Amino acid sequence: STVLKHSPKWKNYSTKVEYKPIRSVLVANRGEIAVRVFRACNELGIKSVAIYSKEDRAHIHRLKADESYLVGEGLPPVQAYLNIPEIIKICKDNGIDAVHPGYGFLSERADFAQAVIDAGLRFIGPSPEVVHKMGDKVAAREAAIAAGVPIVPGTDGPVTTKEEAKEFCIKHGLPVIFKAAYGGGGRGMRVVREMSEVEENFQRASSEALSAFGNGAMFIEKFIERPRHIEVQLLGDKAGNVVHLYERDCSVQRRHQKVVEMAPAPHLPLKIRNQMTDLAVQLARHVGYENAGTVEFLCDEKGNFYFIEVNARLQVEHTVTEEITGIDLVQSQIRVAEGMTLPELGIEQDKIKPLGFAIQCRVTTEDPAKNFQPDTGRIEVFRSGEGMGIRLDGASAFAGAIISPYYDSLLVKVIAHSKDLQSACAKMNRALREFRVRGVKTNVPFLLNVLENQKFLNGSVDTYFIDENPQLFN
Ligand code: ADP
Repeated sequence: STVLKHSPKWKNYSTKVEYKPIRSVLVANRGEIAVRVFRACNELGIKSVAIYSKEDRAHIHRLKADESYLVGEGLPPVQAYLNIPEIIKICKDNGIDAVHPGYGFLSERADFAQAVIDAGLRFIGPSPEVVHKMGDKVAAREAAIAAGVPIVPGTDGPVTTKEEAKEFCIKHGLPVIFKAAYGGGGRGMRVVREMSEVEENFQRASSEALSAFGNGAMFIEKFIERPRHIEVQLLGDKAGNVVHLYERDCSVQRRHQKVVEMAPAPHLPLKIRNQMTDLAVQLARHVGYENAGTVEFLCDEKGNFYFIEVNARLQVEHTVTEEITGIDLVQSQIRVAEGMTLPELGIEQDKIKPLGFAIQCRVTTEDPAKNFQPDTGRIEVFRSGEGMGIRLDGASAFAGAIISPYYDSLLVKVIAHSKDLQSACAKMNRALREFRVRGVKTNVPFLLNVLENQKFLNGSVDTYFIDENPQLFN
């Protein structure tokens, strides 16, 4: 288990930082996260600016901003949002001060962060150097080692041949997991348990990675059996202050993709929580982390935990942390980008006290009866669940909305906040039952099955939960 090299106790850095107000923010994204950021801007009295693809011209995120601009005409739907020169030009032509990347799209592209800064604009996120370092699995692991954070044993760099793969497996033993070196979002992973299957599986995983991410290089890691996915939310400022906002448990995953997230992690021993949060802060200090970010860990049954990656951006599940801490992460991101320090924002480690329990369900337009195939079309009827402790973050959840096949199938994030796991689940269950969605299929029946599962309600699920319980799909 882990031994702290030095205790990263909270201290205020007094470095003077230049404060420069942000008057307008362009969100280089779409859908719910664009609206989430517009809402934060609106409350801060900052002008919000949307970009939209031709496919999104009638999408609500465009209308929720103070201004909006078409991007990527003539480009395919996703490419439209990746057009860096055009996004920068829109900012410059319209006197925009800052850019928020949301999640996905350009959010982890160091070249984008750099282009924003080179254009004289503020990037609401970590520095391009840090985005680059954290996006590079090798560099991120090196930083973790240097900061004293335990990592999963793995290859020192990308592996391209089946011979190298076999060599690793012989040396470190099975099981292992193959991961696309240039992939993400839980895609392109493969677990191997038999030595006779190493070479064939490597070839397959590598050619899948090549077609999905344009590069067949792979990482190999020891596969941690029955892990829980626990991650620590961080916030840093330009003066070098870093705080953690406790942890989230994102173990409920389908095919390595998160479905239900919660904060805090149920039954996490205090000692382990303290080690994890201390190490996450230590890592952030080590790399000079500024703005919001997350350090992800896998935790095994014995209580050992291992660093897997840093997400140098806002995450889909940031909401549950906001609910238990009362801190608006997006507003905080904007404020630190302006040059305000965490103490000036009233955000100090000793004052951050988690309250109760929050859970988020990702309601998607996917049909659980058809192997979660995305459904599209017009929403004919829409009624949502409401009431005490329920928060909805969405952008396309209303009668008349057209669900297109071009983008992510996330319809609305439903967040329930209550005093403990059981009551938050009861609230979520009740709210999801109030939903009426006609015209497109959703995964709500599946989510309700999860919420009624005894193991889930006991707070004792690991990342195998969904795959081991196919009855949840019915
Ligand atoms: P991505 O960047 O594609 O999201 P991650 O490295 O964050 O990939 O891993 C996503 C999920 O895959 C984890 O939450 C976990 O469920 C599973 N996973 C990743 N690495 C391992 C490992 N070494 N052992 C067991 N499970 C793993």
